[in-house]
Amino acid sequence: MTVNGIQNYQYLSKKFYSNEIIYKIIEKKMVDSHDLTDFLTNTEVKDLNLLATFLRNRTGSKFVTYSRKVFINLINLCKDSCSYCTYKKEPTSMEAVMLSPSQAIAIAKLGEKARCTEALIVTGERPEVKYKEAKRWLTSLGHRNLSELLADLSEKILSQTGMLPHTNAGSLTKKEMSMLKSSNASLGMMLESSSERLTHKGKAHEKAPSKNPKVRLKSLISAGELNFPITTGLLIGIDESFDEIVESLLLINNINKKFGHIQEVIMQNFLPKKGTLMEYAKSPSYPYFLRCITAARIILEDISLQVPPNLSPNLYSNYLDSGINDWGGISPITPDHVNPESPWPTIENVNMVTREKGFTLRARLPVYPKYIINSQISGKFVHNRLKDYIEPLIDKYGLVREEFINNEY
Ligand code: SF4
Repeated sequence: MTVNGIQNYQYLSKKFYSNEIIYKIIEKKMVDSHDLTDFLTNTEVKDLNLLATFLRNRTGSKFVTYSRKVFINLINLCKDSCSYCTYKKEPTSMEAVMLSPSQAIAIAKLGEKARCTEALIVTGERPEVKYKEAKRWLTSLGHRNLSELLADLSEKILSQTGMLPHTNAGSLTKKEMSMLKSSNASLGMMLESSSERLTHKGKAHEKAPSKNPKVRLKSLISAGELNFPITTGLLIGIDESFDEIVESLLLINNINKKFGHIQEVIMQNFLPKKGTLMEYAKSPSYPYFLRCITAARIILEDISLQVPPNLSPNLYSNYLDSGINDWGGISPITPDHVNPESPWPTIENVNMVTREKGFTLRARLPVYPKYIINSQISGKFVHNRLKDYIEPLIDKYGLVREEFINNEY
């Protein structure tokens, strides 16, 4: 336990002397979900910050990590329509993208030159189901569906660049995921929220059947059944209640307790975007967002916690005071195609603010160190085929490895 950790623990013990919940949280004992929700709702954020940082610091790690990535925007057509999204484009739009494999590989090669280790492949949700243009694009490339193309492209990127693919193509089925396991180090799929209420008329996910929490949770479970490391996350400020945030986090934690494959949770603050149905909706307030981040650190056991730095350019370093330990994927060469109006800070800037908070910034791979270094589980979570690519990357770039052996994240 760090000195800071001991001080926090003493302070917390004194302050919450009669509070059984905090004792149970610290000792990792079962807490009734209603009691926990009450505690997280009614405790002051500054005290939640102390508890969250205590829980983060007790891993003993002084590192805050990021993944150096290249963003491959493969196809931005999507069968769904979330009320906050500007990533999705219509086929007639000048901004519609349908890359050929050679274009995608060319982008990946730029990433390789820029010493990136993650090839993030992003698509809309099953575009071929809705758009004949997407179907034609796939047929012209010799594929019946997007999953086939993703498997083929991931394999090419892996073998031609040595970078590790990490695919985010929405709510994949177990069969679709299994096609990616030998070429992808991990997957990404935001849960967004466990609230079915948000699928009702006038709400953010009314026109996005794939954002029904039943569908998303099923995908998370399928990834677990395949022992496929996955990153998920919540979008905060889309008219969910705080109780629903807590419920979402508890569900994620329970799934991870069963399978151990949820490597990271992203807490993403909603930003209204021009031209969307939610253009005039408000972003979450700063105190509310901090409360949500601390709730995540307090609830999620053995799962890394990330907030994207580009969505809070002037104050992202403060999130380190709420218990996060990762900045997610940052690209030195490609934009955040999902949030193009929010450029990533430079890695130098992230390094500086991380250092100012007393931490050391370290690069990691798109699959978390615990799945690589722990020989008991690495065979289970990392496909044998990927191991030959992972080791050289760690050695070449001096990535986080041994420091995390005894740590939880
Ligand atoms: S599913 Fe994803 S890409 Fe499609 S509309 Fe929703 S946020 Fe946009």
